[in-house]
Amino acid sequence: MPTKQVVRPRIRGYICVSAHPEGCAANVREQIGFVKSLPPIAEGPKSALVIGASTGYGLATRIALAFGCGSATAGVFYEKPSENGRPASAGWYNTAAFEREARAAGLPAFSLNGDAFADDMKRRAAELIKTSMPGGKVDLVVYSLASPRRTDPKTGVAHRSVLKPIGAPYTSKNLDTDRNEVEEITLQPATPAEIADTVKVMGGEDWELWLNALDAAGVLADGCQSVAYSYLGPEVTWPVYKNGTIGRAKEDLLRAANNIDALLKCRLGRAFVSVNKAVVTQSSSAIPVVPLYISLLFRAMKRRGTHEGCIQQARRLLATQMYGGNFCDFDADGYVRMDDLELQPETQREVFAAWPDVTTANLRELTDYDGYQAEFLRLFGFGIGGVDYDAPVELEVPIEGC
Ligand code: NAD
Repeated sequence: MPTKQVVRPRIRGYICVSAHPEGCAANVREQIGFVKSLPPIAEGPKSALVIGASTGYGLATRIALAFGCGSATAGVFYEKPSENGRPASAGWYNTAAFEREARAAGLPAFSLNGDAFADDMKRRAAELIKTSMPGGKVDLVVYSLASPRRTDPKTGVAHRSVLKPIGAPYTSKNLDTDRNEVEEITLQPATPAEIADTVKVMGGEDWELWLNALDAAGVLADGCQSVAYSYLGPEVTWPVYKNGTIGRAKEDLLRAANNIDALLKCRLGRAFVSVNKAVVTQSSSAIPVVPLYISLLFRAMKRRGTHEGCIQQARRLLATQMYGGNFCDFDADGYVRMDDLELQPETQREVFAAWPDVTTANLRELTDYDGYQAEFLRLFGFGIGGVDYDAPVELEVPIEGC
């Protein structure tokens, strides 16, 4: 099989099964460019571990840390290299590009590809930090995993998460992004076992296991912080998000944050949950109702000039809440709210004024579905200016150590 090929988007349901190496690299460079266009962030971490570092919020945080704070970064992710003439996954190409750019800028960057839920990955990460990161320790651990399944390392049982309401069926308007149609869907409530499984996969247990393992290995620096990402959103998405199975799992992050905070406090550090805004990522595109909400939200936020993507959110979190001489602005529940602009009343009023009127026929007029689709394709390196999509590209792109 030739490893140089023309790569086109191949969309299957809510995922694109191909990725463009040069498009992904251009996407990473754009995010780096955004961070470098703003002043450096003072007093950032010398060295950081990002778990879930290859796409979405984790990748953006890694970029903001390296190019905004000058941090050495270690990234953990689960991505596929190119095989049998098929392109690698987008996260693979993103990471290869990130490492190239980081090294060129003199920023240490190391990556580990494999299952973050496994004990072995935690051991490998601790070893990598000890041997390769400045001072053999990390000052920050970012937990940005989004996964549909997790094998419990203690029991060996594989758990699958579901995206369902709890207690009662939920009927809502929904956007089928495969068929570009607005429809009504009814989601059946989760069983108690499905709720427990979702908490097992997306709750805080693994975050705690990570910090305990790193602590036991002696690789957490004094003052080390840890942050995990969550989402709450507006009421219309609550039945399927905040009050659904995924919300139950996210509630568990707060429990874990308290335990990790107690652990890190001993060395003057802390742990907390940052509630981020809704953005288009491989994970959010799989959640029912959310793509329609995001299409309406983007329109409202772009009109107001308040629109942000992952990189703007990640940089703002580091610059205004965690470092640069600033303090976290916790809400009554103990969350840092990076979704403040999303939840501005006038933005939400605009979204919900349009919500009842959206149909398949007026979808592109009443919402920013064009923007949603463009953003979705960009996740896989498509539709990016300056990339020649008719030219064959090398599919096999190495990541050192992976
Ligand atoms: P994403 O799908 O873009 O990224 C997920 C990351 O997890 C990738 O790096 C992937 O490689 C990694 N990963 C998945 N399974 C893994 C495994 N078993 N082992 C190692 N790595 C694995 O997702 P995202 O949307 O950026 O989500 C990241 C976090 O941000 C999640 O906690 C999510 O709930 C939260 N969040 C997302 C949104 C949104 O709108 N997308 C909003 C607020 C908060």
